[in-house]
Amino acid sequence: MSPNKQTSTNKRTVENTLLKITTVRRAVPKSGFVLLILLYILASVTLSRVTRMGGEIMFLGYPFSLRSAAGIFSSLANLCVILLVVVYRKVGFITGLIVLIGQAPVMMIQIFVFHNYNAIPGVFTNALTVIAIIIIEINHKRVDRFQKTVLEQAVKDRLTGLPNRFAGREYFGGLIKNREKFVYVAADIKNFKSINDTMGYETGNKILIEIANRWKNLADNGNTGTFNLVAHINGDEFGFSIQEYNSEEDVINTINRFREELERKITIEDCDYYVNACFGYAEFPADADELDSVVSCASVALHDAKRRDIINEPVRYSGELIQTERTLEIERKIREALEKDTVFFHLQPQYDMNHKLRGFEALARMKDADGNFISPAEFIPVAEKTGLVDQIDMAVFRKAAKFLEEAGKNAEPDFTLSINISVKHLLKNSFIEEVQGILRSYEIAAKHLEIEITESIMIDSVERALDRIEEVRKIGIMVAIDDFGTGYSSLSYLNNFPANLLKIDKSFIDAMNTGESNKKYVASIISIGHVLGLEVISEGVESEDQLNTLKEIGCDYIQGFIWGRPVPPEEAMKLIPGQ
Ligand code: C2E
Ligand code: MG
Ligand code: MG
Repeated sequence: MSPNKQTSTNKRTVENTLLKITTVRRAVPKSGFVLLILLYILASVTLSRVTRMGGEIMFLGYPFSLRSAAGIFSSLANLCVILLVVVYRKVGFITGLIVLIGQAPVMMIQIFVFHNYNAIPGVFTNALTVIAIIIIEINHKRVDRFQKTVLEQAVKDRLTGLPNRFAGREYFGGLIKNREKFVYVAADIKNFKSINDTMGYETGNKILIEIANRWKNLADNGNTGTFNLVAHINGDEFGFSIQEYNSEEDVINTINRFREELERKITIEDCDYYVNACFGYAEFPADADELDSVVSCASVALHDAKRRDIINEPVRYSGELIQTERTLEIERKIREALEKDTVFFHLQPQYDMNHKLRGFEALARMKDADGNFISPAEFIPVAEKTGLVDQIDMAVFRKAAKFLEEAGKNAEPDFTLSINISVKHLLKNSFIEEVQGILRSYEIAAKHLEIEITESIMIDSVERALDRIEEVRKIGIMVAIDDFGTGYSSLSYLNNFPANLLKIDKSFIDAMNTGESNKKYVASIISIGHVLGLEVISEGVESEDQLNTLKEIGCDYIQGFIWGRPVPPEEAMKLIPGQ
């Protein structure tokens, strides 16, 4: 098929689809049509026989003139015609007219040739029925016209005349239903708000109309080499589909054709304007296989193009963009929370094996605008990447220190409050000064404090960290090695590392009771810890089985849902004996 022919075939498809949207679909069975015609014929034949026969029959014990029954059959026949018009609209109307007018010559012959004047009432009835069905049909036409206008307004954008968001969705949805591969492109006119603000809405609207006309013409004349449908989504956002492309290059070329059309000078009331746009696109089914996902993937790509201010090439959706989007969103939320000082903390109890409280671990908490928690597993890595983690650490440290000031008054001498500190933060020159600042600000004893650093420190930065850890220890603060077992650190590092506590990672506790070797592995970590003079705590203990095994293999402490989830400080306070 030649491209032009192909394009015109598809143009019909676009129009058909849009037409279908603007057509009220009525499901009326064809069999009803046949039934009404048969009923009509039956009533008419009976009518003529009854009229000809004359005489009487007995009905329910009364004599009944057959001629008087003629009225019943005549009304029945006309009712069939009226029903045909009401239910089957145009087809019914034409059929009804043919049937009624077709009878006229027969009736005329009866009256004028055979002088059968009994046919005269029939002529009147037929004429009245013709008038009735013409009135019904005129009324149908008016209602249809009105409905079409209303529906057209519903699918056409008022300003530009392009299919609107709804029509676009129907069309793209149709492609997805037929499993036809296509690319959805989201386009956003750059700086359109400032055109509106400086030149006024009227000029802004004229520019939008001009863009719409240019893009519609381009899509309709098939010059892009692919097949396209352009829709006006809202404000300065357009969406278009690209179909019948052979390669990514075709897609990019098509988008560039749209860009070139856009970037040509636009003259409105003797003023020249130059506009450009960002484009993001996603492909069905390669990138997403539902309408909403295709559209939102394209808008993720568009968002990225806008954020990076890319106007000379379209951005294609990729999974990483979602990641970037989410990261940026989380970063925004962290900054906002830090600014408003809404980062808070929960405390998770740690116990010895006899269920005596050792202390708590402070865990950072953050909520989004809707009040939902954002997991630290999500925001801490973002904070680390963006250099915000030390502010989070310190926000938690400060607030937890205030808690300790309260709790420490009556607490046991070995009561411990653990604070998580990111390796990056620990290595900062200002770290020790920050810690001392806190110790000065609150009435707390350093011996109640413990700093948790992940095992990764012993793999990447142990040399640089050793001095810093020594300084921390000199202040009197204890040090725990968090998530132990996940980092393959060498034993010799562990030997030289001035820590007090090893925290066995939850993953080992999870696996511990699934096989003898896993249990032995945890037992060895505990033994090595003890040999090196460290105490050992197991993280994420959830079941009695795990607890019993840990007792059996000599673990010193546990922290886990079995004996306590992270709770707000007020609740934690109640867990301290004597408070
Ligand atoms: P982590 O320091 O290893 O903290 C333990 C995590 O395990 C916490 O998750 C805790 O809620 C969870 N957990 C404890 N017991 C159980 C259990 O029995 N079952 C299960 N399923 N989970 C348990 P959370 O609060 O989501 O914290 C995740 C990580 O975020 C922490 O792991 C820590 O690495 C980091 N983090 C939390 N707060 C801070 C902070 O203030 N500063 C820094 N730098 N990192 C923090
Ligand atoms: Mg921790
Ligand atoms: Mg941990």
